[in-house]
Amino acid sequence: MAETADLIVVGGGIIGCSVVHHLAQLLDRSTRILLLDRGPVAGATSGSCMGHLMVTPDDAQEYAFTARSVQLWRELNERQGGFDYNPTGALYLADDPTDVELFAVLQQQFAEHGDRADLLDPRQLRELEPGLAHDLPGALFYAGDGVVLPMLACGAMLREAQRLNQHVVVRPHCAVTGIDRDGDRIRGVRTEQGVIAAPIVVNATGVWSPELAAMAGQPRLPIHPRAGNLVITGHHVSPIRTQLLEVGYIRFAHSAAKVDPTRTDDAGGHAVNMQPQTNGGCLIGSTRQFRGMDRELNRELLHRSLLRAQRYAPGLADAPIVRTWVGLRPYSIDKHPLIGPWPLLRGLWIATGHEGLGITLAPITGRLLAQQIAGQPTDIDHTPYLPARFVQ
Ligand SMILES: Cc1cc2nc3c(=O)[nH]c(=O)nc-3n(C[C@H](O)[C@H](O)[C@H](O)COP(=O)(O)OP(=O)(O)OC[C@H]3O[C@@H](n4cnc5c(N)ncnc54)[C@H](O)[C@@H]3O)c2cc1C
Repeated sequence: MAETADLIVVGGGIIGCSVVHHLAQLLDRSTRILLLDRGPVAGATSGSCMGHLMVTPDDAQEYAFTARSVQLWRELNERQGGFDYNPTGALYLADDPTDVELFAVLQQQFAEHGDRADLLDPRQLRELEPGLAHDLPGALFYAGDGVVLPMLACGAMLREAQRLNQHVVVRPHCAVTGIDRDGDRIRGVRTEQGVIAAPIVVNATGVWSPELAAMAGQPRLPIHPRAGNLVITGHHVSPIRTQLLEVGYIRFAHSAAKVDPTRTDDAGGHAVNMQPQTNGGCLIGSTRQFRGMDRELNRELLHRSLLRAQRYAPGLADAPIVRTWVGLRPYSIDKHPLIGPWPLLRGLWIATGHEGLGITLAPITGRLLAQQIAGQPTDIDHTPYLPARFVQ
């Protein structure tokens, strides 16, 4: 007889782990929840990224989305811990006058949501971060951001899920190879290890989510890989204390992409993002480039981004580089993730498309999806993220 589950989550990245975590919290403790990944847990993008928990104040919806998620991270740390949560705050840096003007804009945006960010003069900045270049024209400090180690965070979410519900099963190294349906209703999945029947399947496969949708005979999901090159240094003690980023990073990372994401000849770009690691070292990013699923290091782009990092933290020029790698962000064509039911096939749910904010947004994503499955009211307005917006 075929194996059965009440619910299958495909994809053991930070998004799939958070979906399982919140399903275990909100559904009856007898619900059989199965997490499948073709590799190890956190073996893809969520193990090849940075861990900045970033509150973005662009508008009320974005602020609620990110701030609520960062609050859920804090709560998970208090209950569970074990994932190098570090409430460093974020320091926005600039080195040219146009970018300095952005401090006031950002400060005003935080204020509009009843939050605050503080302007630091060069002396205050040096007190906070003595290792930064001495000619920087001040900075903006936002206390609400933090840093986590995403691979450990996946484990923490799954541990709590299994503590709450002993019917949560995590099965790595089990690829989904097909999706079974009965007319307009999902019936389950086919895997390398056999067929598993379930009335609900969640597609949380990041950059592979269009592939999984295709297995279910669905139209192509508008998700495209956006590559990022990263470097980690080998300090015993991190040369920086705070999560640092160029203020222009916001424009660069979250503004409209100027290139067609389906093309593979994008020259790419970069903006500095630096994170202290609790075990020493400094994690430095971050580049962005559309070039399909290619995970080769782009040395030229990486070199340029390192020069920018050294402009802000000159000591990095002498730092040994211990590892470089590339991660693929799941970029959604309208720059918002897809979280909710897929309207063309009953029982198929989607949680993907978080681009460079998937670590930040994992808790709220898992919660919004689980609340919809459980038929409960959602913490924040979930309608902007419904996948139905891509269905004619
Ligand atoms: C360079 C870089 C820096 C970043 N920095 C930050 C940051 O500082 N802060 C932040 O918030 N976000 C950051 N991000 C974004 C974040 O890493 C991603 O948004 C997030 O990790 C996406 O998670 P995911 O679970 O959707 O995808 P993934 O982690 O890729 O998980 C998808 C999983 O699905 C599995 N899968 C695929 N197909 C199948 C199948 N057929 N059967 C079974 N399993 C399957 C894969 O093996 C994989 O494990 C960064 C990303 C990059 C690349």
